[in-house]
Amino acid sequence: MRTRNLSVGVGLWLLVLVWWSFALWALPNEIEYTISAQLDIAQNIITGTETVRFTNRTGTELKELYFHVVPNAFKRGANTKYQQELQRAGIFPTLIYASPDDDAFMEIKSITANGQALSFTIDDTLMRVALPKPLADGETLELQIEFLNDLMQPTPGALWAASFAVRSGHRNGTYTVTLWYPKVVVYDADEGWNLDKYSFLGEFYGDFANYDVTLAVPANFVVGCTGVILSETVQGAQKIVKAIAERVHDFAWVAGPFYRVEETTLSNGSQLRVLSLGFNMTATAADAMNFFNERFGPYAYPVVTVAQVTVGGGMEYPGIVMIAGGSVTEIVHELAHQWWYAAVGNDEMDEAWLDEAFATFSEELYDIERRQAPLSSRSSYNFRESGIPVLTRADQFPSLRSYAQAVYTKGSGVLWMLRWVVGAENFDRLMREYYARFTYKNATTQDFIAVAEEVSAQELDWFFDIWLRTVKTLDFSLPVGSWRRLEDGQIETRVTIVRQGEAIAPVKVVLYLRDGSVVEARWDGQQTVSELTFKSTSAPVQAEVDPDHDVLEQNRTNNTLTFPAYAMLDLVLDNPVYCGYARLARELCAGRKQNIWLATSSGSTGTRSSRSVIAGAAAR
Ligand SMILES: [Zn+2]
Repeated sequence: MRTRNLSVGVGLWLLVLVWWSFALWALPNEIEYTISAQLDIAQNIITGTETVRFTNRTGTELKELYFHVVPNAFKRGANTKYQQELQRAGIFPTLIYASPDDDAFMEIKSITANGQALSFTIDDTLMRVALPKPLADGETLELQIEFLNDLMQPTPGALWAASFAVRSGHRNGTYTVTLWYPKVVVYDADEGWNLDKYSFLGEFYGDFANYDVTLAVPANFVVGCTGVILSETVQGAQKIVKAIAERVHDFAWVAGPFYRVEETTLSNGSQLRVLSLGFNMTATAADAMNFFNERFGPYAYPVVTVAQVTVGGGMEYPGIVMIAGGSVTEIVHELAHQWWYAAVGNDEMDEAWLDEAFATFSEELYDIERRQAPLSSRSSYNFRESGIPVLTRADQFPSLRSYAQAVYTKGSGVLWMLRWVVGAENFDRLMREYYARFTYKNATTQDFIAVAEEVSAQELDWFFDIWLRTVKTLDFSLPVGSWRRLEDGQIETRVTIVRQGEAIAPVKVVLYLRDGSVVEARWDGQQTVSELTFKSTSAPVQAEVDPDHDVLEQNRTNNTLTFPAYAMLDLVLDNPVYCGYARLARELCAGRKQNIWLATSSGSTGTRSSRSVIAGAAAR
């Protein structure tokens, strides 16, 4: 963040210093996972062995490593953070299970390094592994972990609230396998180890890593997964699927006997693979991927898989999206996450807007540009301040609703507003630049602001501070306006604009004229009140502030100011031949260079009556 009081020179040096210290010790750790897992459909368990090759890039010596062991969030009677959150929401934790004797958990059978057993402790969904000797910066350690993952059959969609955030399991013979292996916790410059337990709200955060995965499933199963499937071989009753995925921050898969597979090539040369249980998703998925390819930059991976699932809702994972409802909106939203989440990663607990608001914005952009959706389908039209800033830790939101309102709706509205503030062309460039610069990296809000400022050549901290970090609001209104003819025959219209509330944004004001044309002005919104002057050849009919809902504005009932028609008088004024006929008309003609037509209106609602005044006062 820029400090405006410092001179440019000092600010620049600080930036260099910050960058230098960051570069010294904040490189992401290098991780390679080699996982071999067997799915047992009789017991609904996965047994696996995992080799984690970990290179310490923290800039510091590590005495321990932390892993996520997410399935433990659901373990019966474990009173985990997730279960406590469910209870606070009035949902009994065991309601997540379809059957009373089902369970879900991850058991760690052993952890070894160089043949030596390592001790570990598990708290909720976090596992701490004590290292035999400290791992210096730059050193590599290889761990072998044997694990068992008990998969649940969650309640069907009817108990949606209860099953929310249950993203892994089986139903109707189809398996959705996510958050299923011990995964290294991110160590970053901000927080060190990001020791976030699995939460009802708040998704994931992972280091970009390489995966080499071998899955053993029943011979008649079809598998869809993150990355590229290299081979599938049937050995007796089993099918062995080998897959690799490079520079991804997670690995997820689906498997079942009922999948129908469709494949097609996308505009950037990547393959689209669709696994359907009945939904027709291929055309929509291909169109959405091609739209985002063109709009934000080419998809970052060789394959993207779209899989219909029977467990959980629509959900994104690197290289694979899970589709539960089958709507176009769901498919497009989840695929947009391949840009904002998969390729450009982020800490979804601390800054969930970087993936959810961006995916929501992308989905709305697709709707408007590809499906002719009206502008009113944008989040900025549906803005209601939730009273909680967008940049709030996900698990601090009191409800799913307030989380959705702030992170998805307001967050997307902020992006639409940014597009207005910097201009559509600059906005497109900055999104492309942000994507290009942070592909295969985790980005922060500060990274995005830096790119936005650089590309638009505007100082934007003020904008993001207000709209992401506060719940300040604003409301524009047009209480009064006037127009008059100038000596040269042109019409000058003056409109008073008022900004109430502590938030600030520039705004568009338009003047609709009698000849059907429109004049536009832009007000910077810095003051609380101002007067705008328009010149035109035709008289004004109406003025409107923020006609396209570019700004997250509170009250839209006071956004217009209507000028009365004065039909008779105008007829007289515009046709001097009539001037001889009426005394009033003669007076008007005589005074036409000086008189001001003043109109006040409460706007389109008519809550206050419109009144009009012919003021005889000389304008100059
Ligand atoms: Zn999303």
